[in-house]
Amino acid sequence: MFINLSDVLTSEDRVLTMQTETDMTEVSIGGQTFQILKKSPVRFVFTNTGKNKAVIDGQAEMTFAMNCDRCLQSLEREMNLQFSREIHAPEPDGGLSKTADAADDDQSFMEGYQLNVEDLLYNEIMINWPRKVLCKPDCKGICMQCGKDLNTGSCGCDTFVPDPRMAVIKDIFNANKEV
Ligand SMILES: [Zn+2]
Ligand SMILES: [Zn+2]
Repeated sequence: MFINLSDVLTSEDRVLTMQTETDMTEVSIGGQTFQILKKSPVRFVFTNTGKNKAVIDGQAEMTFAMNCDRCLQSLEREMNLQFSREIHAPEPDGGLSKTADAADDDQSFMEGYQLNVEDLLYNEIMINWPRKVLCKPDCKGICMQCGKDLNTGSCGCDTFVPDPRMAVIKDIFNANKEV
């Protein structure tokens, strides 16, 4: 979905409000694909802020299908996207004389005067993506030995992890016993 912003970028004090649907159905993050279960329309306000400059304000809600990092149970997470991005019109010469500064600013979602809505949303989703996803704060995860979901009860596996300091004491104890 492209929105032409040439009018907003070139007309002083122009404000453009619009609402648009996106056809995104999934996102790929870190090699994993996540389904978008629900999404609101994207509300945009484009505001001219000077010669060849504008600000994109946007808002949208999306619900993603995720998995708990510990027990792998599937769950839904709603994300409220709210963002404000400054943009500028493309260089008249096609950007060939771009300074290092201009190359640094992230406007990868703009193609000339056209806003690529999906690229912009993807950017925002990446920024807001949770580092850790848990079904509940105290999720116990799954047993490393039998794979049982430990939230549903313990499995009876021997999960005793020997403490190396204890092992030393045990050795001394055993050595004494042999005397
Ligand atoms: Zn969990
Ligand atoms: Zn187990």
